Amino acid sequence: QAKIIDGKKIAESIRAEVAEGVTALKAQTGKVPGLAVVIVGERKDSQTYVRMKRKACAEVGIASFDHDLPADTSEAEVLQVIQQLNDNPDVHGILVQLPLPAQINEQNILDAISIEKDVDGFHPMNIGRLCMKGRDPLSVPCTPKGCVELLVRSGITIAGKRAVVVGRSNIVGMPAALLLIGMNATVSIVHSRTDDPKSIVQQADIVIAAAGRAHLVKGDWLKPGAAVIDVGTNAVDDPTKKSGYRLVGDVDFEEAKKVAGHITPVPGGVGPMTIAMLLQNTLDSARRSAEAQA
Ligand code: NAD
Repeated sequence: QAKIIDGKKIAESIRAEVAEGVTALKAQTGKVPGLAVVIVGERKDSQTYVRMKRKACAEVGIASFDHDLPADTSEAEVLQVIQQLNDNPDVHGILVQLPLPAQINEQNILDAISIEKDVDGFHPMNIGRLCMKGRDPLSVPCTPKGCVELLVRSGITIAGKRAVVVGRSNIVGMPAALLLIGMNATVSIVHSRTDDPKSIVQQADIVIAAAGRAHLVKGDWLKPGAAVIDVGTNAVDDPTKKSGYRLVGDVDFEEAKKVAGHITPVPGGVGPMTIAMLLQNTLDSARRSAEAQA
């Protein structure tokens, strides 16, 4: 029976560490870390994520700068907001909630964020640095960073182990694989065009599942004792719930927990880590800015 990795508890301790760091930075330099959260339009899910991020900032003493723009905002107007935030010395992190409305090119917006303030770690320069030995990125994307942090804080050895990442997206799969390579794992990526992904996942000591396919990874895909980090959040019909659905991961949890050594639940695994990493990236950025001014 696998040990359950409690992402909620680990995220809480990281938030407490960030809160201490914020207090110490303020005492030493008088500076308060600031995070700007930009949202365009009124998507309910995006509004919920933004609300959660702003609340989490308040809880650890990070100042939030709110920019709620109407759905018909032009790309030029969003770029102007980004420029103001790049120039504002009280803002140490800029987060643009994705997806953006169709009239705005997401990549143009992400490219405009200064790499110092790119606390989501999506700027091509930060991703490029993640690929290069000896060229550390200023920020690493929050969800994959959270996955690795769960492994490290659960005492799971990464160096020399075989890791398989399921999925190759810019925001989760690819950076997760790059992070694991940087920590000396031997890494394979399987994706939607992979022939026989099961036989590849079966070799893994560490599995990071980020395909967005409910229960793709079955118990018999896993090597006994493997550490399994499930990033997937998939809504499946559930008439017993008031909402009519519930969230499940990319891993068949009931089967997998009988085979794995460690496993994250959905919800309560990777989810809470993403915001904790965002807070940590913002604090780190504020520390860099204070050091640069000292
Ligand atoms: P995406 O759709 O951008 O990418 C999915 C990737 O999975 C693609 O690279 C694709 O090639 C691969 N894939 C699809 N079907 C596959 C299959 N049958 N076998 C192997 N690989 C397959 O998704 P994403 O943005 O990377 O997100 C992945 C999942 O993680 C989603 O469920 C998303 O909701 C979740 N997510 C969770 C958090 C969190 O904080 N918990 C954050 C981001 C994403």
